[in-house]
Parts: sequence; C-alpha cells; structure tokens
Amino acid sequence: MITIALSKGRIFEETLPLLAAAGIVPSENPEQSRKLIIATNRGDVRVVIVRASDVPTYVQYGAADIGIAGKDVLLEHGGAGLYQPLDLNIAKCRMAVAVPAGFDYAAAVRRGSRLRVATKYIITAREHFAAKGVHVDLVKLYGSMELAPLVGLADAIVDLVSSGATLRANNLHEVEEIMPISSRLIVNQAALKMKHDKLTPLIAAFAGAIAP
Ligand code: ATP
Ligand code: MG
Repeated sequence: MITIALSKGRIFEETLPLLAAAGIVPSENPEQSRKLIIATNRGDVRVVIVRASDVPTYVQYGAADIGIAGKDVLLEHGGAGLYQPLDLNIAKCRMAVAVPAGFDYAAAVRRGSRLRVATKYIITAREHFAAKGVHVDLVKLYGSMELAPLVGLADAIVDLVSSGATLRANNLHEVEEIMPISSRLIVNQAALKMKHDKLTPLIAAFAGAIAP
C-alpha cells in the first residue's frame, strides 16, 4: 500500500492533475466527505487528509509514504527524514513582510529600531531578519496575522501573500518579499528504499506532469 498525505483545499485540488498523470483518481473529495482516509481507483494507493502543517510529520514518521507540502511548511518543519525530489510548482504565493499604512518600515530599519513581528513562520522570519541585521521580537500566531498590527500586537507581520487582497482589505502594505513559495513532493526516505518499485514510477509521473 502507498499512502499519500495531502491537505484539503488548494493543495488537494492542485494535486488532482498530478495524481491523474500517475493514473490515480481519489474516490471522494475531502471537501464533501468527512473521511480522513480516502480510497482511490487503485487498490494499492490511498490518500490521508491532514492539516497542511502536519503533512511533513506524517511523512517523516512513515505514516504516509509521500506527501505534498508548501515550502513555507517545510522550512518550519526542518525536513528531517524527508527526501524532497520535486518542486511541483503548485499553490504558488510568496512569503512577505507587511505593515500598516502609515508605518515607515524602511525608516524603522534604517534607525535600527527593534520591531515586533507577528507570524506563524517563526523560523523563516527569524532567519530573514537576522540576515538583514534587523532586531525583532517575534510573536507566534496560528492564523489571521493581518489583525495583529491593527490592534497593537505587532508593528509588522510575516505572512503568505498571493493577490494581496487580504492585506488591502486590512489596510496593510507589502514592504518586502522574503521568498517565492510553491509546494514540493516529499518522500519518506525509508519508504523510498522499501517501496522503490511503486514509488519511482509515481515520482516520474509527477515529474512529467509539472506545469512550467
Ligand atoms: P490551515 O488552513 O489548516 O490553517 P494553511 O493555511 O497552512 O492551514 P492552506 O490554506 O490550505 O493551509 O495552505 C496550504 C499551502 O498552500 C500553504 O502551506 C502554502 O504553501 C500555500 N498557500 C497558502 N496560501 C496561499 C495562497 N493565498 N495562494 C497560493 N498558495 C497558498
Ligand atoms: Mg489557509
């Protein structure tokens, strides 16, 4: 049996064409079904539905053989026990710094001010500001980072941005791109050896189906 860990929402949707290229069709959509284990048209392949940030953990411990996770999530996880053979070029966005309208980020950085930054991405944010030599106090949040500067919890946020609509709706401005983000295929290193015959063709099919 091959177990694939996916999160529902955009990763599940954008993975469907890649699975199809490997001849795999899930039998249900996790948005409609409440099932956490989804069968496929192939008796030897199943999909498990987990939180996006839990995908690397399931694969690391071998509870899933492969999975698909955003670079954002992989940087926070650290990647232990994971082989990352492919950038799938799906779920594309960017990691960025945003501040409220009226906050002069460039001036604060020039003055060497200590900034309070709210984010779900502590490791990525710490590395980014350390590389710039900016002193920060990081405040860990689990969602809705956009609220933090509006109520005085932080001067700035580090979050994922795609269209920028959520930032605009909350009167925030993107002031710095940290890195582009897309999702990667991750493979359990032991499973790659033990299930080589089944996993190698699957990885090859995914590789052949990546959109430019
Ligand atoms: P949860 O919603 O369970 O708290 P999450 O927000 O990390 O977790 P998703 O919103 O499904 O889960 O995001 C999954 C992945 O998709 C993220 O890890 C990131 O790589 C990518 N992603 C997040 N937001 C966007 C976006 N606006 N546009 C494109 N890709 C995104
Ligand atoms: Mg989300």
